[in-house]
Amino acid sequence: MSPSATSLRTHLCGELRAEHVGTSVSVCGWLARRREHGEHLAFFDVRDHSGVVQCVVDRTVDVRSEYVVRITGEVRRRPEGTTNEGLSTGEIEIGECVVEVLNVADPPPFPVDSRADDVDENVRLRHRYIDIRRERMQRNVRLRARINSAIRRAMEAQNFVEVETPFLMPSTPEGAREFLVPSRKEPGSFYALPQSPQLWKQLLMVAGVDRYYQIARCLRDEDLRADRQYEFMQLDAEMSFVTQPDVLAAIGRAVTAAAKEATGQDVPPIQQITWREAMERFGVDKPDLRFGMELVELTDVFAKTEFKAFASAAAIKGIRVDAATYPEQAAWGRGRLDAITDRAKQLGAKGLVWLKVTAESTLDSPVAKFISADETAQIIARFGALAGDMILIVADDWTTTCEVLGQLRNDIGRPPVHEGPYRYVWVVEFPLFVGIDAATGRPRPGHHPFCHPHPDDLEYLDTDPLRVRALAYDLVLNGWELGSGSIRIHDPAMQRTVFNKLGISDDEADRRFGFFLQPFRYGAPPHGGFAFGIDRLTAILAGEENIREVIAFPKTQSGLDPMTNAPTKVDEAQLAELGIRVLPPATK
Ligand code: ASP
Repeated sequence: MSPSATSLRTHLCGELRAEHVGTSVSVCGWLARRREHGEHLAFFDVRDHSGVVQCVVDRTVDVRSEYVVRITGEVRRRPEGTTNEGLSTGEIEIGECVVEVLNVADPPPFPVDSRADDVDENVRLRHRYIDIRRERMQRNVRLRARINSAIRRAMEAQNFVEVETPFLMPSTPEGAREFLVPSRKEPGSFYALPQSPQLWKQLLMVAGVDRYYQIARCLRDEDLRADRQYEFMQLDAEMSFVTQPDVLAAIGRAVTAAAKEATGQDVPPIQQITWREAMERFGVDKPDLRFGMELVELTDVFAKTEFKAFASAAAIKGIRVDAATYPEQAAWGRGRLDAITDRAKQLGAKGLVWLKVTAESTLDSPVAKFISADETAQIIARFGALAGDMILIVADDWTTTCEVLGQLRNDIGRPPVHEGPYRYVWVVEFPLFVGIDAATGRPRPGHHPFCHPHPDDLEYLDTDPLRVRALAYDLVLNGWELGSGSIRIHDPAMQRTVFNKLGISDDEADRRFGFFLQPFRYGAPPHGGFAFGIDRLTAILAGEENIREVIAFPKTQSGLDPMTNAPTKVDEAQLAELGIRVLPPATK
């Protein structure tokens, strides 16, 4: 008996096989396709989430596309020569069918099969309930459920306890723009929806929960992209009495369990690199390790250069687009090189130098005459460059040089997300602060302000804050940031120091986050945690480029829901009750 049997069906459509020949069965589903066969018969392909089965029925029955039917009949082998190898049920059909129409249906707005992949996304989202009937979407929805389940099992096997945290909370300093919810009882006051359960999970550690997890919905009012929605799901976790390796190991187990569930393959131990190394070698803090083209240091090569554009640069690096791996590079003409140069400028570089290695081991480039024979030899040696390779060089400050080349490396070399092996990497030792805010003159937090500074760098907190590393780490998969975490500050005095550095005075900290700081005076254990995005992980494991494909009801890139038309206007009366008056849009 099928575990999916009900009082209306004995089996799912896609479950039937040759071993069922001779059995009487009932299946329920939607009419995917009908073909007339001779004078009396018709073939119905009936679909449910498990697949499609062919049913031979009397052609007089009036059943149209997407009608909901129940078919009862006997499983039989398809006649010689008519089996369909491409279909899991292709050896059999259901014969002698009695057809019951459970419901009629209007013609669907788009074909309920792979042809809908090319339909405008707004139309698919407007009729998402039909879109999800399709095999691809069923696969994604179910893959996601299996990933969630594998994560839960892995967390529970490590004694993590699931705790739910509130949705209505005060505004917190986590960095993203928040969604606010007006209070009816306290007009003029607002709740914020959680950017993440960060504060709650830290309080749960003070509360002695020891290991918390939650598959949590988080909300951030930020511009949407292929890998970002207003609301998204994270595996959120926190652990007490740990150091960084404990957290990485625990989260690594959950991620690898999810990956194994999705792909059937074991994940090799996840390697670690420091943030600085990631920037030096890949130019980004979320490196895609599936391909080479690493950044190569050239500053010393040009230490005594005559070439003006390089002479005063703090950092000079390059990447090699090698002719063997990127044969299309051989055809790059001036137009393409100008476009790459423009892109480099758009990314913040003052310029880009390209050098093509010739068969004589010289460099072909408009600036070749400024580069000495010795420099040429050193460049070629350092890249291990061969004839036909193209070298792209940026000379600027360290950050610009890394970031521009990192982006060009991705532009030129990055394979589609589903191609090649899955390459996970922990990026550790992120900076505690990133840059100085021009308006306030204060450092900006690298992640959120609860990350513990690296103990070896405490001495620089006052003198050189940008040099301070944090005990903060990201997990990256194929160039996508899956999630972040850190060892937290558990000493209230240290937390105040970090707040002060960010320009939050003790008074302000007490006023805004007293509810968070106060508990830390009652015995906070050392703790740390992590959160990773389930939408992103599922999308990558499903081979989808866009997280919307693995979310049942996503918003469009402009933040709208074409099905419900949210966001919508509300009644004046509802606004009045909340003490809200809507201003006309600001004129520019
Ligand atoms: N709350 C953080 C985030 O959502 C993750 C963490 O630090 O645990 O990015």
